[in-house]
Amino acid sequence: MDTLLFAVPGSLLPTLAAALFGLLIGSFLNVVIYRMPKMMQREFDNACAENCGKEPVHSDTFTLSVPRSACPHCGHQITMLENIPVLSYLVLRGKCSACKAPISARYPAIELTSALLAALLVWTFGSGWTGLAIVVFGFLLLAMTFIDLDTQFLPDDLTYPLLWLGLLVNLNGALVPLRDAVIGAVAGYMVLWSVNALYKLVRKHDGMGNGDFKLLAALGAWMGWGMLPSIILLSSVVGAAIGILMIVFGKHGRDTRIPFGPYLTGAGLLALLYGTQITALLQGVVQR
Ligand SMILES: [Zn+2]
Repeated sequence: MDTLLFAVPGSLLPTLAAALFGLLIGSFLNVVIYRMPKMMQREFDNACAENCGKEPVHSDTFTLSVPRSACPHCGHQITMLENIPVLSYLVLRGKCSACKAPISARYPAIELTSALLAALLVWTFGSGWTGLAIVVFGFLLLAMTFIDLDTQFLPDDLTYPLLWLGLLVNLNGALVPLRDAVIGAVAGYMVLWSVNALYKLVRKHDGMGNGDFKLLAALGAWMGWGMLPSIILLSSVVGAAIGILMIVFGKHGRDTRIPFGPYLTGAGLLALLYGTQITALLQGVVQR
């Protein structure tokens, strides 16, 4: 171990530590992505039953930690050894150790993405408090991306903490002055709320969810109002391109609600990493 540490340049150590940390958190993010929507659905079901004076629909405990993770096919409880990020998947060759049912490759893919993301963010922003907060930013965006893909829903339990953390990070202007962050949060919400209000006027139903407004508000809190045009443009271009492809090649009709969250999270991450360059590029295009 000593010789390995010796061979790694000191400047790389925080990045490597971040990758390892990201790998572990990625394993936890898999649990969040799978369980959080189910927890919310159960809470909703129970609240509905209570309003109607009925017994709760779900009486068993279901949280992020209880019950223990198990194979959905045979109920085999996943042991510590079978729960090592990426490695367990490779050793088990992507199959449940008890019933040999296939395990989704998405689990190791999310763990790897989480590791690479944490490493990239620490490499770019350093391992100080701001850098660590930005790593949390990355983890929250990753969880939201997959929850929105699965359920077309962005939980308040993720969007609000992202927003509060963005304001806190900028209390002393770590990324942008606090004034820009506060205006960014309000403007981010209002922009998408207005777009949706117009859409609703024309098509008589929502085009996007409240979660999208809150997510853009959070991105505004992190990067300030000045970055909002770039984020919206980036997400719309990617979103429209994928949306059109889905309509042309898939079964999606024009009224199918396509989750906007993943485009926003992707655009938010790009803006955080390359925002200055992207804004300069856009200004160049506008001035031409
Ligand atoms: Zn099994």
